[in-house]
Amino acid sequence: AIQITDMNKWYGDFHVLKGIDLTVKRGEKIVVCGPSGSGKSTMIRCINDLEKHQSGKIEVLGTILDRNPKNIQAIRKDVGMCFQHFNLFPHMTVLENCMLAPTLVQGTSDSKAKETALKYLDKVKIRNQADKYPGQLSGGQQQRVAIARSLCMNPSVMLFDEPTSALDPEVIAEVLDVMVSLADMGMTMICVTHEMGFARKVADRVIFMDAGEIIEDDEPNAFFDNPKSDRTKLFLSQVL
Ligand code: ATP
Ligand code: MG
Repeated sequence: AIQITDMNKWYGDFHVLKGIDLTVKRGEKIVVCGPSGSGKSTMIRCINDLEKHQSGKIEVLGTILDRNPKNIQAIRKDVGMCFQHFNLFPHMTVLENCMLAPTLVQGTSDSKAKETALKYLDKVKIRNQADKYPGQLSGGQQQRVAIARSLCMNPSVMLFDEPTSALDPEVIAEVLDVMVSLADMGMTMICVTHEMGFARKVADRVIFMDAGEIIEDDEPNAFFDNPKSDRTKLFLSQVL
């Protein structure tokens, strides 16, 4: 579903992504971890063109991500995003936030969009806040709304960038359950997360990044029990 070949990105002089090679098959679940500043967010943001790469190739669902707006649009339509700092529209209620993209971009009817929105708001345990405005919610509650909102687009690929890191443990489990059920439905997922329990349970492969490179890319048992690189071992000793 996703193929990244020798992809490089610079911020000015700073070489942030160095020769990234990553293939994600349809239905695969990939967990990406690594130290702060290693380029995890930048890498997944490149997949839907929130950041532009400068060399190498990114292909998503058969479309090559170049500077052609049609291609970018096609990719974004099918790639859902759930980022840690995903701003909700402050002048819209929780429910309206969730209904906006499906009605506007996908032409879903209001009643169907509402039904879907309430279903996912229920899943992230915030359905009773559906008529509130984001400013009336805590940061953690807003994060859950943002997750529900991205699920409402029924994307074929979901990118998660530390979606649970601001949530309390009980909610984390419930959100991870939603992600597990997405995985079980065959969703293609790339999840930046340090939830290693989730990685063990759900990931087909775990990727470790350090200093802009993919250092390790292996199935979870091998990754956790027998990491090849010393940098991975050091990282695991810090997070596990
Ligand atoms: P974290 O775990 O803290 O979220 P990360 O692995 O997601 O870290 P990135 O956010 O991808 O890391 O950042 C990678 C590097 O690029 C960091 O050194 C960061 O300071 C730098 N960087 C990120 N965004 C920009 C930007 N817009 N301009 C310049 N440098 C940036
Ligand atoms: Mg990040």
